[in-house]
Amino acid sequence: MNFDSLKIHPELLSGVRDLDFTKPTKIQEQAIPPALEGRDVLACAMTGSGKTAAFLIPIMNQLIAKPRGKTRALILSPTRELAAQIHEHFQDLAKHTQLKGAAVFGGVGMKPQEQAFRRGVDVIVATPGRLLDHLQYPYAKLDNIEFLVLDEADRMLDMGFLPDIKRILRHVPEKRQTLFFSATMPQPIVDLSAQMLRSAVKIEIERKAAPATGVAQALYPVSEELKPALFVELLRRNEVGSAIVFCRTKHRANRLSEVLDREKIPNAKIHGNRSQAARTDALAGFKAGRYRVLVATDIVARGIDVEALEHVVNFDVPNQPEDYIHRVGRTGRAEATGDAFTLVSPDEERYLKAIERAIGQRIKRVTVPGFDYSSRPAERFEVPIGERIAEIRKRKAEDRDRARAKAERKAQNSGGTGLASDQRRGGGEQNRSGGDRNRPSGERGRAPALSGGPDRRSPRGGGAGGGRRPQ
Ligand code: AMP
Repeated sequence: MNFDSLKIHPELLSGVRDLDFTKPTKIQEQAIPPALEGRDVLACAMTGSGKTAAFLIPIMNQLIAKPRGKTRALILSPTRELAAQIHEHFQDLAKHTQLKGAAVFGGVGMKPQEQAFRRGVDVIVATPGRLLDHLQYPYAKLDNIEFLVLDEADRMLDMGFLPDIKRILRHVPEKRQTLFFSATMPQPIVDLSAQMLRSAVKIEIERKAAPATGVAQALYPVSEELKPALFVELLRRNEVGSAIVFCRTKHRANRLSEVLDREKIPNAKIHGNRSQAARTDALAGFKAGRYRVLVATDIVARGIDVEALEHVVNFDVPNQPEDYIHRVGRTGRAEATGDAFTLVSPDEERYLKAIERAIGQRIKRVTVPGFDYSSRPAERFEVPIGERIAEIRKRKAEDRDRARAKAERKAQNSGGTGLASDQRRGGGEQNRSGGDRNRPSGERGRAPALSGGPDRRSPRGGGAGGGRRPQ
């Protein structure tokens, strides 16, 4: 099936073409034809399946034939980001049509949104809370709604929006077409869908094994330093929901996990340096939804089997094409329409040719609108191996110095009774506070490092050493 055979208006088809969509995705194939005929649809589909176009195209196609100036379509979304994304998708598709739309969500001014209501834009994409804020005023009317979409219904439920949805439904005419999308179908969602839909066409995108060809693949060219920021941005925008992200090395995996921790994004690591128990826990936590991101090294890629994986992100381009195929195939197996994103630094471009040759297609390159590609990160992401080794050597040298200083100190205290007995008393010495700790070590100023705190960072031992140096 292709988009031509869907018999949609040429203006809308031009918008689809501009987006480089050549073939409808599974959900589009199944949802668009009945929705074009005005049927209600209940679809079990995830982000990444192409669900947005699956509801936008049939609604927009029906709107084109109607007069402008009335808001006839309402799309409800759980988050601002998703609402913004749907609105953006709408604008792209509407480019060659006269259709107008607006996004209505919190955190931005009410006024332009009020104007959208007053103008009667054709389509409003809204989050429930802000929509209810507007509905207190006479300018906000949903009397003319003929098309209603509930997107990510299960997430709405998780976020506690069910009462809001029910309140909104009281403002929307009973006679309408409703398209209902949810990634999962827990009982409250089944009940809600039964309330909202009339003889709906039920669509479930099967989760059985599928070839990797169903996977939407994209490349995100970005400088090496900005990879962490871009990845965080993709998570923030929900371009990436729950994902397994592969890094080239353990160090990079650890660093990325630190960045995610700072951003308060629940994540777990899985790599060769971690115990099996830690790895099992990480994987189980990821599958159970406790961690949004599972950070893994290339090495463990083949051992992981995660059902319903939404995204695979290659934080680094795998330098073996087989690794790319295997990994990307993983989302294809679990979810026929999983996404596979790869961040590509200029240095890694050379690996892409082999990958594209191996998979027999060119992968689309994506630039994230609004992301500052010229910014400079506050800190380096990767510490070069040479520097890390130097740091380890320095720490070991300091440890040795401290041990030697302690031995000398004890030798002096005990009047030279020998190293062995001093070492036996070592534990007690360590717990003692006071000047003894800070005796000269042979290398001036090193010994105070033992006193901890800020001195640790001062190569010359700060103020603690000099004044207290005995004898
Ligand atoms: P969605 O599941 O709606 O969030 O879409 C996921 C991604 O797939 C978006 O980047 C869409 O632009 C893209 N997409 C949707 N439909 C198609 C299609 N028929 N062909 C290629 N890409 C598509």
